[in-house]
Amino acid sequence: MAANSTTVEVAERVTALDPEALRRDFPILDQQVHGKPLVYLDNAATTQKPRAVIDALVHYYEHDNANVHRGVHELSQRATNDYENARTTVQKFLGAAEPEEIIYTRGTTESINLVTASWGRANVRAGDEILISAMEHHSNIVPWQMLCEEKGATLKVVPINDDGEFLFDEYRKLLSNRTKIVAVNHVSNALGTINPVADIIKLAHEYGALALIDGAQAVAHLKVNVQKLDCDFYAFSSHKIFGPTGIGILYGKRALLEAMPPCEGGGDMIKSVTFEKTIYNDLPYKFEAGTPNIADAIGLGVAIQYVNDVGLDAIGAYEDDLLQYATERVGAIDGIRIIGTAKHKASVLSFTLGQIHPHDLGTVLDREGIAIRAGHHCAQPVMERFKVAATARASFAFYNTRDDVDRLVAALEKAREIFA
Ligand code: PMP
Repeated sequence: MAANSTTVEVAERVTALDPEALRRDFPILDQQVHGKPLVYLDNAATTQKPRAVIDALVHYYEHDNANVHRGVHELSQRATNDYENARTTVQKFLGAAEPEEIIYTRGTTESINLVTASWGRANVRAGDEILISAMEHHSNIVPWQMLCEEKGATLKVVPINDDGEFLFDEYRKLLSNRTKIVAVNHVSNALGTINPVADIIKLAHEYGALALIDGAQAVAHLKVNVQKLDCDFYAFSSHKIFGPTGIGILYGKRALLEAMPPCEGGGDMIKSVTFEKTIYNDLPYKFEAGTPNIADAIGLGVAIQYVNDVGLDAIGAYEDDLLQYATERVGAIDGIRIIGTAKHKASVLSFTLGQIHPHDLGTVLDREGIAIRAGHHCAQPVMERFKVAATARASFAFYNTRDDVDRLVAALEKAREIFA
């Protein structure tokens, strides 16, 4: 009976989301590519934008454009209000305690670089260790390597198994009182694995280490609560959650952010400046030097409201069902090897097809109007771990349908015949 009621519950949540209706909110989806209706399956690279976000950008530039925080005039006040309201929207969305803990950045990459350059330079010393996992995006590898090189610290890597799952026992073995910080992704962009971040963070803290979570691939698919997770830092990019490019978020616990030195100097990040001494501004402005990306921050706020309206529970259930369907259908194609078969996955299907180079697959699919990604997905160590040069990757959002999957499967069959 219990299983039955769960099934009914999931089914109800799935039908609570109407992808056909939602698709109409995304004008870009309604077009032909190479004479075929577009099937957009590159959502892990970037997501499409609902009309509400596009309208908010246009409205801002048509009605409210002004610099923030400095003007007494009406437009500046409107721009400031909308920019700060978006910050509060992000704060609530992440379950952070205060808006001051939400720093605007250019995206996940800049958020992680902010932590390595500010917290890292101030706190990491020769002999210290930093732990990441073997399934990180380059933006959660290279900044740590640069820090380690500068400081004489060591980067250690938690291995993954053949399904692409984080090896928790190996993680436990690598932790020690030399570990300063653990930095892992919440969801892998190359494999789709959902990592057990709550447990990873808890164990890091037992060793006195901090924990940074790269949430670039998580926030559009899973509910996140940074206070419940108890992570020290959480990073994500607006463009992966239906918002504009060029804006992203670093969440940090207030006490940590307070103690961290600013990364960039300039306007807005100061309280007072003399040639002898500058007093830095309070949070979050201490980390937001110069005129910020006002319009896109506002757009991000609207994107999050849109996701809240659709509901992450409904999105998660719908996408789980779609991923399962895609995994079964694509997995049944002769010669397919799925890379990333973790028990807990979100919205990513990476694969190879026989000896066909993923770039060739991508090109054939493009001619069919289907957008997927082919390459190393900025995760070259993952490719090396699975001994492939590249994979083809279909990645889903709630506006994708079973029909999109069927089109993908038909195009893959066609590619198989072409290259046979
Ligand atoms: N981490 C992960 C897991 C990602 O998927 C990406 C983007 N592909 C990034 C970090 C970097 O994000 P951005 O390029 O928006 O800074």
